[in-house]
Amino acid sequence: MSTPSNLKDDARREMPGFKGRLTGPTDPDYEQARKVYNAMIDKHPALIATAADGDDVALAVDFAREHDLLLAVRGGSHNGGGLGSCDDGLVLDLSQLKQIEVDPEERTAKVAGGCVWKEVDAATGEHGLATPSGIVGTTGVGGLTLGGGIGHLTRKCGLTIDNLLEAEMVLASGEQVRASADENPDLFWAIRGGGGNFGVVTSFRFRLHEVGTVIGGPTFWPVEQTTEVLSAYREFILAAPRELNGFFALTTVPPAPPFPEPLHLHKVCGVVWCYVGDEEGAAAAMKPLLEATPEPAMHGVQPLPHAALQGLFDELYPAGEQWYWRADFVETIPDEAVAAHARFGAEMPTMKSTMHLYPVDGAAHDPAPTDTAWGYRDANWGSVYAGVDPDPANAEAVRTWCVDYFDALHPHSAGGAYVNMMMADEGQERVRASYRDNYDRLARVKAEYDPGNLFRVNQNIEPAD
Ligand SMILES: Cc1cc2nc3c(=O)[nH]c(=O)nc-3n(C[C@H](O)[C@H](O)[C@H](O)COP(=O)(O)OP(=O)(O)OC[C@H]3O[C@@H](n4cnc5c(N)ncnc54)[C@H](O)[C@@H]3O)c2cc1C
Repeated sequence: MSTPSNLKDDARREMPGFKGRLTGPTDPDYEQARKVYNAMIDKHPALIATAADGDDVALAVDFAREHDLLLAVRGGSHNGGGLGSCDDGLVLDLSQLKQIEVDPEERTAKVAGGCVWKEVDAATGEHGLATPSGIVGTTGVGGLTLGGGIGHLTRKCGLTIDNLLEAEMVLASGEQVRASADENPDLFWAIRGGGGNFGVVTSFRFRLHEVGTVIGGPTFWPVEQTTEVLSAYREFILAAPRELNGFFALTTVPPAPPFPEPLHLHKVCGVVWCYVGDEEGAAAAMKPLLEATPEPAMHGVQPLPHAALQGLFDELYPAGEQWYWRADFVETIPDEAVAAHARFGAEMPTMKSTMHLYPVDGAAHDPAPTDTAWGYRDANWGSVYAGVDPDPANAEAVRTWCVDYFDALHPHSAGGAYVNMMMADEGQERVRASYRDNYDRLARVKAEYDPGNLFRVNQNIEPAD
């Protein structure tokens, strides 16, 4: 049995063909290499294997399985619960798998498993094309896609998984396979929402859409007007054309341009827009909400390249801060829930703490509930309560606010949550609730592809008996 001190030597000896980097606890770059995005996570892996290609991934998977090591797979490191790392086991780091090939004729992009979204948005944006992803460019393609993928284009183009055409994967056996509608269709079904439970994806192929310049940015109202604005928003957005996405947010205005100085550090409620089309169309689509609500404190909507909208939050939320978040799927927002949002919005403990209600209707409602592993095709929003602050001294304050907020709103939710916005300590019942009727099929696919549960550092689906 290897100990942390000799594991790297074993790996060197047993994986002579490994072309990437091996980093152990005594290496000078270990402290840097073990960091993940959320500074609340402080894991100490025994070995970090940074793969150079798919063959390296297969070698590392074999090594972990043969040594019975806990294996964490890391893409963009963004997982809130730190599921891209582990204590005492092997971290398989994909961050050097960076190839992106855009085919503008076919409107597809092949994206290596270690890319982050800003790299994809830049490459596809050159052709006036995009695939739906998240709202922060530094998030990993791997984790976000496998969990589902909610963002600015959800209402128009669906979830990220709805645009996944195929994936190249390394299974728990070390075998390299392709998953698509035609090849290993059960596996393809499972990875569209089932997270990293079924293998390591070394490349994804996505469908692209014509999305060049969009009309985007925030509209803000004072937080004291949350009840009026959210009451109007909850009906407005569900009736809005699919070209319009607008997530509802409770936030604090950052003290920097382009925000007007009188608003700096003021708590606000608002909508962050993305309209695929021209300015006239955007104004017409937003009009019903703007007419039903008080004059906003800021209406910062403008034409901008889709890739620029995707980067809007990147500077505000750099790696290395304290994050604690909880999430829910939401079908309706009753008056009691509106009142609770207004209360917790007024009590946001730090400037970066926030609440978002992401629409998951429109094109995300087109597939049937059993077409992919995503279990909540009838939910209208994914909510997230995120306590965030750079200062570790505030970790407990942001955590407490988040958990109290979740406890108050959860009774008004649809039951489960978007697995990518859960922490790692929410329990197996919560995972089951999040996959709902799809859980049992997922467990059967898991039993076929990963019967030993090698891939268990995730929102885990236990293999069926
Ligand atoms: C600031 C911030 C903003 C976010 N915004 C959004 C958003 O707008 N929309 C949204 O949908 N989500 C969003 N998320 C959530 C995000 O989808 C998850 O945190 C996701 O897990 C991140 O993926 P990653 O690859 O960066 O994470 P990692 O921590 O590297 O990995 C997360 C999980 O995915 C698995 N995994 C990653 N890559 C692979 C791969 N190639 N093959 C197999 N398994 C893999 C890992 O094993 C792990 O279980 C955001 C997160 C943060 C921190």
